[in-house]
Amino acid sequence: MNLPLIDQIDAILPQTQCGKCGYPGCRPYAEAIAEGRADINQCSPGDQDGVSKIAKLLNVPPKPLNTAHGSPSSYKVVAIIDEHLCIGCTFCLKACPVDAIAGAAKQMHTVIAAECTGCELCIAPCPMDCISLIPAANTTGTNSLGAAERKQQAADHARTRYQRRQQRLEHDKQRTAEKSSKHKTTGAVIKSTQPITDERKKAMVAAALARAKMIRSQTHAGNSSTKPHELS
Ligand code: SF4
Ligand code: SF4
Ligand code: SF4
Repeated sequence: MNLPLIDQIDAILPQTQCGKCGYPGCRPYAEAIAEGRADINQCSPGDQDGVSKIAKLLNVPPKPLNTAHGSPSSYKVVAIIDEHLCIGCTFCLKACPVDAIAGAAKQMHTVIAAECTGCELCIAPCPMDCISLIPAANTTGTNSLGAAERKQQAADHARTRYQRRQQRLEHDKQRTAEKSSKHKTTGAVIKSTQPITDERKKAMVAAALARAKMIRSQTHAGNSSTKPHELS
């Protein structure tokens, strides 16, 4: 293989994009290993097998997986959202490294199970605790590929989605910077692009909860005013 070393290491990593290795994705971890800034045994989703493959590639002795970075799971999980509780705050959507959550502000959100890597990054930001992990549907027998090939195919797909998201975020950042410098030049008032602070987060959640409460009470009022002959 004539690929640069970073690409070769990245090709071994499972592309869960969970950050458990201490880096914000598989590619940054691959870069850190290639540059000698990170040890080879920090990826728990890749398990001992991944460590051994990286050791072989780098021609260094293998070492045990460092479980300080998490323990490997014996089965794949995907996230699921309890849509009755979701208040549409979008925090999970912003946290997902592979754009596996569909939804918009003030609307309920849904996980696209086929795109979810089970990275768990959407769970902590959810103010409603309405995201959980469930075992992924077993796809055995759905195509002619073997388990290893299916795993590789899923990893390649997740890498592509991660890269697309990174490109989109970079593009958005550039556009914001351009707009900001344009406004500075013209002296126009710049719309706030401040990061979401805890206080702002709390205010957004409170507003979303108030909205959800209002919608529920309206639905309830509508239901109670429904006359028996209107029911089908
Ligand atoms: S799967 Fe998670 S722990 Fe492993 S390299 Fe990728 S981001 Fe890091
Ligand atoms: S939906 Fe949640 S668990 Fe699935 S990939 Fe996105 S952030 Fe990770
Ligand atoms: S973080 Fe939770 S409440 Fe907010 S949109 Fe996602 S699932 Fe809904």
